[in-house]
Amino acid sequence: MEKRRIAILGSTGSIGRQALDVIRQHRDLFEVELLTANNNASLLIEQAIEFEANNVVICNEAHYDEVAQALQPHFIKVFAGMQSVCGLAGSEDIDIVLTAMVGFSGLESTVAAIKAGKIIALANKETLVAAGGIVTGLARQYGTAILPVDSEHSAIFQCLQGACGAKPVKIHLTASGGPFRTWDREKISHATRQEALCHPKWNMGQKVTIDSATMMNKGLEVIEAKWLFDIDPGQIEVVVHPQSVIHSMVEFEDGAVIAQLGHPDMREPIQYALSYPSRLSLDNKKLNFSELHELTFFAPDLQKFPALSLAYEAIGKGGNMPCVMNAANEVAVKAFLEDKIGFYNISDIISETMAGADFVKEPDLDTIFQTNTEALAKAREIMKKYI
Ligand code: MG
Repeated sequence: MEKRRIAILGSTGSIGRQALDVIRQHRDLFEVELLTANNNASLLIEQAIEFEANNVVICNEAHYDEVAQALQPHFIKVFAGMQSVCGLAGSEDIDIVLTAMVGFSGLESTVAAIKAGKIIALANKETLVAAGGIVTGLARQYGTAILPVDSEHSAIFQCLQGACGAKPVKIHLTASGGPFRTWDREKISHATRQEALCHPKWNMGQKVTIDSATMMNKGLEVIEAKWLFDIDPGQIEVVVHPQSVIHSMVEFEDGAVIAQLGHPDMREPIQYALSYPSRLSLDNKKLNFSELHELTFFAPDLQKFPALSLAYEAIGKGGNMPCVMNAANEVAVKAFLEDKIGFYNISDIISETMAGADFVKEPDLDTIFQTNTEALAKAREIMKKYI
C-alpha cells in the first residue's frame, strides 16, 4: 500500500482518537495532514505535535490563540472556524478525509471534501440521513467514493467485496439492542442519563450512545444503508444480536447469507476504510469461537423503541423528512444529556416535530440547511412542555 495522507475532521472525538490509534500502529503508511476539533484545544495540540500534522483547525475561535501559541514552535499551521475546515478539507495534499464530527454539523465540510474529489471515510452518519440523495449524487458527479466507517456498514461493504457486482436482496442490519434491551417499558421510562450511557458492547461518543439506547441509532443506520448501498429500506431488516459479534449480513437471491464477524472494536472498520482495499494488522482482540458458545438473534421491540419506527416513517416519506427527524433527535438527545427531559420524551419530541414540519419532496442543499434550522427551532419549542 502506498502512503496515504489523511485529514481527520473531529480528531478529538471517540472516532478521531481511535483513528489516530490506528495510524499510530502504521506510521509508515499514513501521514496526518489535517486535524480539526470543535473545543478540545489541549487534546488537539497534543495530537498535532505527536502526529506532526501540517495543519490544524480549532472550530471555536475562542481557543485559537491557545492552539496557535502552542503549535507555533512546531511549525504547524493553525486556523479557526468552520470555513477553514471546509477550505482545508479540499486541499491538494490530502487523499482521504475521515468525517468524524457529530451530527448535522458535518454536512458542510463533507460536501466541500467531495467537491474537491477527496475519498470520504464516512463516520458522520447524520450527513447521509439529512442529505443522502444530494451527498451520494455529488460523490457520483465528482467521481469519488464514500467508504463506510460505521461498523455495520463496513461489515456490509466487506461482505459485498466478493459479490462481483451482485446486488443483495436483503441487508440484515444487526443491533446490540443497547443498555435497555431487557428492561420493560415502564422501567425504561425512568431511565437516567448515566444508565443510558452504559453501552454493553461498544465504546462510543455520547450522542451515538444515547441514540443506541433509544435505537434511533439503528434508524439512522437504516437510512445510511439505503444511500450507501442504493437499496430500498423495505429490504433492510434490523435484527437484535446482543453479542455484537456479527456486524451485519447481506443476503443474495439464492438465499446465501454472507456475514462479517469480529470482536466489537471500532478501530477495525476505521482501519479498513483508511487502508481499503488493503488489509493491515491491528492489535485488537481476536474472536475465539470455542469461547463464544452462542450467538442469539431477536426482532426489535418497536413498542419499547418507537424511535426506530419513526426512522422508517421518515425515510418512507423521503424528501426533507429524515433531515427533520435528525434535527429533532439532536435537540432531544442534547436535552436528555443535560437531564432536562425523560427518556421517552426523546421520541415524543421527534414525532411531534415531524408531524408539524413543512414537507419538501425534492430538497436541494439550501433547502436542507433551511429545514435543519427550522426543525431545530420547532423541536426546541416542543421540548419546553417536557422540561
Ligand atoms: Mg453503527
